[in-house]
Amino acid sequence: VIVARDKDFLVRERHRRIGRSLSVAYSAAPLKIVGGEGAHLIDEEGNRWLDMVNNVCHVGHCHPRVVRAAQAQMARLNTNSRYLHDSLVEYSRRLAALFPDPLNVCFFVNSGSEANDLAIRLARAYTGNRDIVTVDHAYHGHLSSLIDVSPYKFAGKGGDGCPPHVRVAEMPDLYRGRFRYGDTHAGKKYAEDVRRQVEALAAEGRRPALFFSEGILGTGGQLTLPENYLKEAYAHVRAAGGLCLADEVQVGFGRVGSHMWAHELQGVVPDIVTMGKPIGNGHPMAAVVTTEAIAAAFANGMEYFNTFGGNPVSAEIGLAVLDVIRDERLMHHCRVVGDRLMDGARALAERHAIIGDVRGHGLFNGIELVRDRETLEPAAAELDFVIAEMKRRHRILLSSEGPHHNVLKVKPPAPFSADDCDRFLAALDETLGALAR
Ligand code: PMP
Repeated sequence: VIVARDKDFLVRERHRRIGRSLSVAYSAAPLKIVGGEGAHLIDEEGNRWLDMVNNVCHVGHCHPRVVRAAQAQMARLNTNSRYLHDSLVEYSRRLAALFPDPLNVCFFVNSGSEANDLAIRLARAYTGNRDIVTVDHAYHGHLSSLIDVSPYKFAGKGGDGCPPHVRVAEMPDLYRGRFRYGDTHAGKKYAEDVRRQVEALAAEGRRPALFFSEGILGTGGQLTLPENYLKEAYAHVRAAGGLCLADEVQVGFGRVGSHMWAHELQGVVPDIVTMGKPIGNGHPMAAVVTTEAIAAAFANGMEYFNTFGGNPVSAEIGLAVLDVIRDERLMHHCRVVGDRLMDGARALAERHAIIGDVRGHGLFNGIELVRDRETLEPAAAELDFVIAEMKRRHRILLSSEGPHHNVLKVKPPAPFSADDCDRFLAALDETLGALAR
């Protein structure tokens, strides 16, 4: 039995015993969370907090069906994937069925980072090329290989800069970028920079192995992509012999409402898809789905073994998550509540000039705050105030995103309800009013 400690003790010991680069949310007054249910977190005093930044517990905190599946399988067996097991095969069939041909082959790993690292190995094995093109401000994981393709990390504090095998493509930002809302050719124009990066490689006698992109840009600032961006970008990369990856770690599993995968919003079929966070509703598991041909090129004699990846407990959890998404019609729910949230936020923008842009699909949204709608000067300190007040006065948990730290990030567990949405909008209205005064 673990003794329940007070928060001061936990802060002090955490600082002493756990690597200091780990941050804590709301560092001035951190929360001790002891329970979760649906879209809510529960603190040690029994207070309920509306969790609006958790796309990991996608089907809801501690969903009973997922918990039961995990408990039952843990009591039966947990071992590695070298034995035949019904749930592993069943899960690979169910997961692959969520993609069109030729995306038919799965690999199971333990985190989004592992999935992206394996994707790089697959792409290099298949293409024989080494170089990678990534989108500016992106984050793709914490392994060395992924810090290398994450401008969000390598170009920021403590970063070592862009490595020689990586090229960074301009971020397609329709709000403050070079080509903006209303420019119907913005997608094609932004994709031109992907072509330029590929050509720059060619000028040095090199070719890309892989192009990394999300279907909605998370650390870029919850940015929806311009129409045709991925179509054009994929064409440039493929013409140079490279493969195209969709990183669905943040945005996958129906969160975008209209589709299971965010890249489908762009009408493309990637060569490799990586998934994580929501796949296990908080259980550490992740996956790569790719084509038979790419998987075959990777099977060059060296075994791919992953101790925990694809274990029967993870497979049972993965199946339960897919069942809940289907049976509770969560994709449709994300669409309906996401539209309600964006309509409501746009209505607030008519009264609060600080709201510069409202964007997203389903329940993956950004509300960008600016000091001036002409200059687009980022309102970062104002956003910090909003986030602190939403916590302090309304028990709503939010966070900021984007290169200028001025985008309110919204990605709640999918059971986030219409009532939760209205409560959020009323609280935001009140908080922006207080900010203006
Ligand atoms: N890709 C994206 C887009 C992510 O947001 C993250 C995690 N924030 C990762 C990959 C890495 O996933 P993990 O933390 O599970 O390794």
